[in-house]
Amino acid sequence: MTGRVIVITSGKGGVGKTTTSANIGTALAKSGSSVVLVDTDIGLRNLDLLLGLENRIVYTLVDVVEERCKLKQALVKDKKNPNLCLLAAAQTRDKSAVSAEQLKSICEQLQEDYDFVLVDCPAGIEEGFKTAISGATEAIVVTTPEMSAVRDADRIIGLLEAKEEIKSYKLLVNRVRPNMVQTNDMMSVEDVCDILSCDLIGVIPEDTGIITSTNRGEPIVNVEDSPAGQAYINVARRIKGEEVPFMDINQPTGFAAFIDKIKKIFGVKSKANPDKE
Ligand code: ADP
Ligand code: MG
Repeated sequence: MTGRVIVITSGKGGVGKTTTSANIGTALAKSGSSVVLVDTDIGLRNLDLLLGLENRIVYTLVDVVEERCKLKQALVKDKKNPNLCLLAAAQTRDKSAVSAEQLKSICEQLQEDYDFVLVDCPAGIEEGFKTAISGATEAIVVTTPEMSAVRDADRIIGLLEAKEEIKSYKLLVNRVRPNMVQTNDMMSVEDVCDILSCDLIGVIPEDTGIITSTNRGEPIVNVEDSPAGQAYINVARRIKGEEVPFMDINQPTGFAAFIDKIKKIFGVKSKANPDKE
């Protein structure tokens, strides 16, 4: 078996790479695939926190590289899903503790045993980024609909294009607020795709449930009726080749949706969907 190695990257920090890695990983595992998450954000590990596994870590990526343990010993099994495990980042300050060749070799070993190897990338375009992409043949570029994040995503896409081993990369737009898009206070997903001329793999709405779920160490895909959770489940299905329509994120939600419904009943055309009756 040869699994797929996918790096989750962004350029700008804080746009949701780690949240995305934890949730796509969990969703893929829930759908029956075997998944290993590799945290390469050395010094700033938090993928373990998002999965609620921080107390179970004995060995890290750096221990594997420095041969203090075998690769299998360093894999921490998820509490709920036996298909999912984590290779944690070390808390060391030395960000160059793992070289690109070393990570590539680890990814090669992992893809023998797992359907998916997901690599959570550190921010920036420096050494850490180059190391993180070294074993991957696919990438997911995470951005928010803000100019600074989109600009950084553009630089990352340039670097991914230049790397021969990367066969495909897709865009994930995170923290979209439909109500702000409608009032022209936020770039739309279409605008972001146009600027980056990149295929879309997912649109994740802003969801305050993510804060609670992060604090509890429970990925949002495990929370029922969560908009972001459902959007991440859809991303996982698309990764596996299913055709899943994108959620109509431009549909008004909450009070705006209520007003829209009332207007429809009285035959007034909706401002958000002027073409629809
Ligand atoms: P990165 O790994 O790119 O630095 P994180 O995944 O750590 O980013 O996310 C940064 C912050 O944004 C976290 O506090 C996270 O909870 C929050 N966040 C990410 N995605 C969303 C979302 N869709 N809705 C609300 N908050 C989010
Ligand atoms: Mg992160």
